[in-house]
Amino acid sequence: MNVNGFTRTCGLIGNPVEHTLSPVIHNTLAQKLGVNLTYVPFHVETGKLSHAVSGADALNLLGVNVTVPYKSDVIPFLADIDPLAKQIGAVNTLVRCESGFKGYNTDMPGLYRAMRADGVIIEGENVVILGAGGVARAVAMLLTEKKAAGIWLMNRTKEKAEKIAAEVNAYAGKEIARGIALDAFAELPDGKLLAIQATNVGMYPNNGDVLIEDNEFYKKIHTGYDLIFNPADTVFMQKARENGARAYNGLKMLLYQGIIAFELWTAQTVTDELAEEIYRMMECTINE
Ligand code: NAP
Repeated sequence: MNVNGFTRTCGLIGNPVEHTLSPVIHNTLAQKLGVNLTYVPFHVETGKLSHAVSGADALNLLGVNVTVPYKSDVIPFLADIDPLAKQIGAVNTLVRCESGFKGYNTDMPGLYRAMRADGVIIEGENVVILGAGGVARAVAMLLTEKKAAGIWLMNRTKEKAEKIAAEVNAYAGKEIARGIALDAFAELPDGKLLAIQATNVGMYPNNGDVLIEDNEFYKKIHTGYDLIFNPADTVFMQKARENGARAYNGLKMLLYQGIIAFELWTAQTVTDELAEEIYRMMECTINE
């Protein structure tokens, strides 16, 4: 990388940011596409988010990613917000606009592009989401946008699943979502479902954990899509496969949310071949 007076800077703000894979994505894209850009993580302490956003503006940063715990907290500091990000209530990408930064959510378009790359279809499907946190809510909105037939949110705290289901139904203008308890398999519809695992159960270093142990659940799904990417093969994915389902992890979602952010910042288009090359680099980085 040849940093000079014309080099533009992008970065990630969050806490912690030390284990992020985003620099691999963006610095490789910049290098491969010949864009004079560098990407660095910025650890932002609690209480300093507004300073971080105005500092990024003052320093003329080209773009910023936002990660945990600031994806919702950053919204009041934006000059503008994309309608999808507003609906989801979370922003992970800031793009320069005339009076500051406009916020986007590339996590959900990223998940959609990842699923398409993996040959997983949403349209017309019955889908069960495991979890009712921020990501599960965003996934439910994506499924609604992409015309899933029905959505079942299963969560340890059933009330949170019911609350999201009510919000989704209000957004859809019809009853397509329901919140149910973790053991309420009988309330799932007949036929095989697409299952999206959106909790942090089973994430490194708790690799041996799984949200649902019972094989009866896994017999009801044709695909298990885990949003966790470390470990690469979660117990959820193993149990899905053991019961005849296909299984995928969340690394492609991470890749595509980054690619979409890069495309927003630079107006470049990333080919499937380049995406594949970066995906392999990310796999190697995780395994190091
Ligand atoms: P969150 O808001 O903290 O929600 C966590 C969810 O996990 C809640 O539904 C919670 O249930 C459930 N949960 C946590 N510990 C549990 C336990 N021991 N037993 C049962 N349920 C438990 O988290 P989030 O922001 O939605 O993120 C969820 C996951 O998405 C992350 O961990 C990450 O793996 C994944 N993710 C992936 C990507 C990607 O690019 N691939 C991007 C973002 C996030 P309760 O409601 O009952 O507490």
